[in-house]
This record gives sequence, structure tokens and C-alpha cells, in this order.
Amino acid sequence: MEKILTKKSFPLWVKELVSYKIYAPQKNGDLWNFETIKKPESINLDFPNTVLPPKNIIFPQREVLLEFESSNENKLQVKETLPDDDPTIIFGVRPCDAKALTLTDKVFSGDFKDPYYWKRRNSTVLIGLACNIPPSPNCFCLSVGGSPHSKEGLDILMTDLGDKYFVESLSEKGSTLINLAKPLFQQPKAADKKAVEKTQAEAEKKITRQIKDIKKIPSILKNMFDSPLWDEESLSCLRCGICTYLCPTCHCFDINDEVASSSPVKGKRVRTWDTCQFPDFTMHSSGHNPRPDRASRLRQRIFHKFQYFVERYQNYLCTGCGRCISKCPVGIDIIEVLDKVRDYGS
Ligand code: SF4
Ligand code: SF4
Repeated sequence: MEKILTKKSFPLWVKELVSYKIYAPQKNGDLWNFETIKKPESINLDFPNTVLPPKNIIFPQREVLLEFESSNENKLQVKETLPDDDPTIIFGVRPCDAKALTLTDKVFSGDFKDPYYWKRRNSTVLIGLACNIPPSPNCFCLSVGGSPHSKEGLDILMTDLGDKYFVESLSEKGSTLINLAKPLFQQPKAADKKAVEKTQAEAEKKITRQIKDIKKIPSILKNMFDSPLWDEESLSCLRCGICTYLCPTCHCFDINDEVASSSPVKGKRVRTWDTCQFPDFTMHSSGHNPRPDRASRLRQRIFHKFQYFVERYQNYLCTGCGRCISKCPVGIDIIEVLDKVRDYGS
């Protein structure tokens, strides 16, 4: 379904969606992030890129998995704490961040379907905004199979055409939201469709960063496990983990028991984000650490995204959002690292 929605009518549409919990990009100081919306008119879709992708709405940074307590008979009672499945809408999802969720879907499925992830995922509708201008100078979605107007993983894609949006429904969930305010939407004219095509073609030309010959990278990496490149490239790494915490595709976590009292035993089992860039991520209880240095940790990040994940799921674990480049405090640039990998193989 393709429709036109004027920018004047946009808050009226949002008003019709009151039964949903709504997230949209909000500016706090200089930073944009996804936050819950109380007033429809406070949604501003003219934003650069959010610091955090919307992954934390589906996969929170900290979540309680279960609560436990010992009873008088000294038996342990366990209560699962599954999240609510309140119907939720996220407005303004960038195509790279939507595609990233299709990748984390693979990880949280498979042999074990993670109920915490899927309860939120299934109850959430993703409304995307095509990037007419790359939201970051480090965007490189075109190199990893995406585009500034990719529909992958979205329920609706909106394209800004000046005083109106071109709105494409891509799923039943998307059509339901449009049908809730049918009279606000108009049929697009041939000129609107032409304007969308022109906008999309121009947007692609504005993306300047790219990974050349990316298809060669997975097989070159196979021979680079012991390369000195990892030492050279990781020398300045502060092991802060920003590159992974802000990445829409990174999904590693730790699980800990937080014990509030030991007699009777009472506490919570909590899942929190973790990162392969922290030294104790792979620390064994014996004291042995198979990734004891920065070089082995940087190698892991690159291998996971451009070798292991490709072999397992036939996709790069990177959607080219550019956050890890823009936000790394010491300027480690994943494109430059991959340029050196490619040179190594040639
Ligand atoms: S953001 Fe940069 S400094 Fe921090 S862990 Fe990642 S590569 Fe290292
Ligand atoms: S690896 Fe970097 S560019 Fe790729 S998706 Fe993650 S943060 Fe974005």
C-alpha cells in the first residue's frame, strides 16, 4: 500500500495511535535518542542520527530475567519475569537500524528462541524514515547490502518529500496503523512516485564512504588470524566498548545473580549488555583468558562481523551505520581496518 500524508496531518495520525506506546527520536542537549512520546506534536523527524540505535527498546541494556526466593521449607521458588507485550510503535527508524534487527532476530532464534527478546519484538511496529541525506558522514550502508531507503525489517517506510511524506506499508502491522486513520491518507500521484525515485537516487550519491571489494574480506580474514595487523590497529584502543554498545547489531550479554539476602536466599537473575572489547568478557574461572590483549579483542570484533557471521548466516554483522567510527574516542575506523585487510590479501 502506498499513500501520501501531509506533514500537517502527521500529528493527527499519531493522535489516532494512542493505544500504542510510542517511541521517536528526541533531542536532549545535543544528543538525539529514542524516547517515549507523550505529545504527538513533539515528534520531530528532522534528526541526524540517534546516538543509540533503537535496539535497546527490544533488547534492554539491563533486564531482570527471573526472581528467586527460598521458602520456609528451604525450597527455592523461581518466578519468571517476562516483559509486557504492550503494543509499541517506533517512529523514525533508520533503514540500517531496521536491518540490524533482522540480524539480531537470527541470533535470538535458532535452537533457543529467546522469549524476552521476542515478546518485545513481536509487539513492536517499526516505522522507518528513508535517509534523504546520510545522517552521518561515516554511513556506508551501500557496501553491506543496504541502502538509505531499504525496506528490510520495516513495517512502514516514510520518505520526506518536503511538505508531505510518501508512506509505504510493508506488512500487515503497517497497514493496520494506516487504516486507523484512513481519511488522513491520500492516493499518491505519478509525480509523487517520480519524486521518491529522484530523492532515493540522489540520497545514494551522497554516501561517500565504502568498503571496497567487501566480498573478498571473509576469505582473506581466514588467513589472518595471526597477522600483526591486529596489534598495529589496536594499539590506541581504550577498551571502552563504545564501538559495540552503540552498534545496532552487537548483542553480547552477561547474566548475573544479584542476591539481596542470603538467609533466606532472595534475589534476581539479571541480563546486561557486555562486550568483546572488555578484557574480562572471556575470562575463565581458572584465570585463563583466551583473549588477553587488545589485538585479540579487535580481531574478534572484525572476525565476528565479517567472517564468522557470514559463514553462519550469510550476512555481514554490520549495517554500515557508521556509529563505531564516529564515536570511537581514539578514531579507530572499521573501514580503514578493512582496507588494510583487503590490501593484505592482494
Ligand atoms: S570505541 Fe574505540 S577505543 Fe573504545 S573499545 Fe572500541 S575501538 Fe577501542
Ligand atoms: S560495526 Fe560499526 S558501522 Fe557496522 S553496524 Fe556496528 S556500529 Fe554500525
